[in-house]
Amino acid sequence: MNILVVNAGSSSIKYQLIDMSTEKVLSSGLVERIGLEEGSITHKTFCKDEEKKTKEVFAIPDHTVGLKRVAELLVDKEVGVISDPSEIKAVGHRLVHGGEAFTKTVVITDEVKAKVKELFPLAPLHNPANLIGVEVAEKVFPNATQIGVFDTAFHQTMPEVAFRYAIPNEMYTALGIRKYGFHGTSHKYVSEKAAGYLGNKNAKIVSIHLGNGASMAAVEGGVCKDTSMGIGPLNGLIMGTRSGDIDPSVIFYLVEQNGYSVNEVSKILNKESGMQGLTGDTDMRDIETRYLKGDKVAILAYEMYAYRIQQYIGKYAAALNGLDAIVFTAGIGENDTIVRSLVCKNMEYFGIVVDEAKNSVRSKEIREINENNAKTKILVIPTNEELEIARQSFELVK
Ligand code: AMP
Repeated sequence: MNILVVNAGSSSIKYQLIDMSTEKVLSSGLVERIGLEEGSITHKTFCKDEEKKTKEVFAIPDHTVGLKRVAELLVDKEVGVISDPSEIKAVGHRLVHGGEAFTKTVVITDEVKAKVKELFPLAPLHNPANLIGVEVAEKVFPNATQIGVFDTAFHQTMPEVAFRYAIPNEMYTALGIRKYGFHGTSHKYVSEKAAGYLGNKNAKIVSIHLGNGASMAAVEGGVCKDTSMGIGPLNGLIMGTRSGDIDPSVIFYLVEQNGYSVNEVSKILNKESGMQGLTGDTDMRDIETRYLKGDKVAILAYEMYAYRIQQYIGKYAAALNGLDAIVFTAGIGENDTIVRSLVCKNMEYFGIVVDEAKNSVRSKEIREINENNAKTKILVIPTNEELEIARQSFELVK
């Protein structure tokens, strides 16, 4: 049975077609620059371990045109992998914000779509684009069941003591202002892998997702107890372009004393801060090159980035009253040995001691990089959000 995983953004659609009998990716691709003068589709197929890649450049006025072309490519004689779109049993959609309404993966109905729409104010950049993805997929793949997998769902188990902000109660009850958290699909996937690796389903795990966006989650017995992002994705760790935690007074200081508009402050904190603000570079590989050359700006940024993560490990060790493992995942977590090394430095109190020889090994496999006798395991686990979405979708249609 084949499941198509779709992640629709405002001007892009990422997709993967997965054969659930083997969990092998048959095809993956990216539709980009939708609505601009010149769009493109990069389409890859993986058959018998042979990879084929094609790129088409043409004007893609809307998501429907983009996804229709993807459907054609999937059945194409040359670059296709199936003979008919009806071979796709379900389309699993990544949906960013499920608010308090969605605690698990659901079959998408008109009622679900109406609820996702109601949640637009909580995720004004993501939910509208995600919903367009759903509506287009319903047209292009009418025989497939549409499934919604929410980024926030895994975090819905957080206790109230963790998810409430200390602001007037009615802000929560009337406006839904609380911590929701994101990257739930990734935190769920890697924390389950970690528990399996440890052979302990009750394990106390701190999951550290370090991609361009970054967040952490405290997980015990497969249940999320706390997470670092909040009502939106700005809170917590230092990210590629987001500040993470700051004193909210900074916003008032900029607006009231320095004449910035709220829109400008939002742009600064979301797009011009984090590693971009500190170093002028966003991509960690570029900052790493500077770090290795002894660039003081890059060194300070790396140290700040790691220090924030260390602080959250401390918070979550307290939240869990213990720690069996910390897990590094996503682009930076899986690949950046310097970040892992700095995060694990001076953390003996938490039982965290890194083995630098193991830390420097590059691999796509799950691996342990702690010293043999260390109390807390340090794991590197490649995340796979698409596979997790496909698995959860499969559960509802098999
Ligand atoms: P993601 O959002 O998970 O795709 O992660 C994107 C981030 O991972 C970018 O900041 C990349 O610079 C970073 N990244 C990818 N590969 C490496 C690498 N080999 N070393 C350091 N950072 C990396």
